[in-house]
Amino acid sequence: MGKVPFLDIAGATREVAAEVWAGWGELLRTGQFVGGTAVSRFESEWSAYCGTEYAVGVANGTDALHLTLRGLGIGPGDEVIVPANTFVATVEAVVLAGATPRFADVDDGTLLLTPETIKAAVTSATKAVLVVHLYGQMPDMDAIIDSTDSLGLILLEDAAQAQGATWAGRRAGSFGVAGCFSFYPGKNLGAFGDAGAVVTSDPALAELLNSLRDHGRMQGGHGHYRHDVLGMNSRLDGVQAVVLSAKLRQLDGWNQSRRTLMAAYRDWIDPDKARLVEQLPESEGVFHLAVVQVNDRDGVRERLAEQGIGTGIHYPVPCHQMTPYAQFADGPMPVAEAAAGRQLSLPMFPQLRKTDVQRVAEALNKAVTEPIR
Ligand SMILES: *Cc1c(COP(=O)(O)O)cnc(C)c1O
Repeated sequence: MGKVPFLDIAGATREVAAEVWAGWGELLRTGQFVGGTAVSRFESEWSAYCGTEYAVGVANGTDALHLTLRGLGIGPGDEVIVPANTFVATVEAVVLAGATPRFADVDDGTLLLTPETIKAAVTSATKAVLVVHLYGQMPDMDAIIDSTDSLGLILLEDAAQAQGATWAGRRAGSFGVAGCFSFYPGKNLGAFGDAGAVVTSDPALAELLNSLRDHGRMQGGHGHYRHDVLGMNSRLDGVQAVVLSAKLRQLDGWNQSRRTLMAAYRDWIDPDKARLVEQLPESEGVFHLAVVQVNDRDGVRERLAEQGIGTGIHYPVPCHQMTPYAQFADGPMPVAEAAAGRQLSLPMFPQLRKTDVQRVAEALNKAVTEPIR
């Protein structure tokens, strides 16, 4: 039997190759390699897609988070609530901004933040909550907005894994003061290198982010050499913007295909053997990852590998137990810790075939020796 890779981005690359070559041809003629028309075109397309007023392209997703925090004046002395179950960059960005991460546990079914876990983490120094739409699904955003509103906290979104996901019909990134995206190649909308963006409907924040990503450059005054704030270089280049515009036209179709494949996993996986992440009623996920919880995860993973089935683990160590961040931990995070030992990510990408999903599900049902419930 053929192999089933965990991820294969070659198919998506082929689908946009002609459009990308054409766009790059134009770029070679104009020489607008950093910033320029291709970048502003993608920024308009991306903000329109997300349902926000502005999008600011940056160099990667980590910078999108870090610069957003700095743009909002969140830094030393301020706490930002983050889930213990997330990719490290969420927490890393908070520390880079000079603020203090406050870990919150996650829900056992969705593996995402809840109003209860947020509330348990709040202190008098808490300024913001950084909600992560992990695996491509959003938590109960109505309940989360109620809780951040009543606690007087700024809501921010790490939507790096959730390009196009919706809650009650509204897109990820449009709920918070700002939504931060990564366009790392493996993401649902991925560049041919590193890229990222912040979306917001706050004109002052958008203007400041425009400046922060470009050495603190301001409009007016001494033109190109007026730097009124401490910035950095985190510009999006035209080479990547061309790719992102081309891929954006495919994103809804690709996300639909991921949803169909996830539904097939749901049909074929034995719920007594493996527990797929739960989907909330108002949530339309984009399934960046297809995550199950299983007992004897490493054994199951090995048995699948023996049959040529690739899998991943997102993530094996919760952030509050990582060396640079353990100093910020304040007590155990039982759900996140248990999930770290049981999570397994199954093959998932739009070009995956339904027959492959069936084969993976059947192999998984057999590979699990110890039921999950
Ligand atoms: C990918 C990712 C990031 C960081 O993105 P980079 O572009 O790699 O800097 C941040 N948060 C989450 C949840 C991610 O998956």
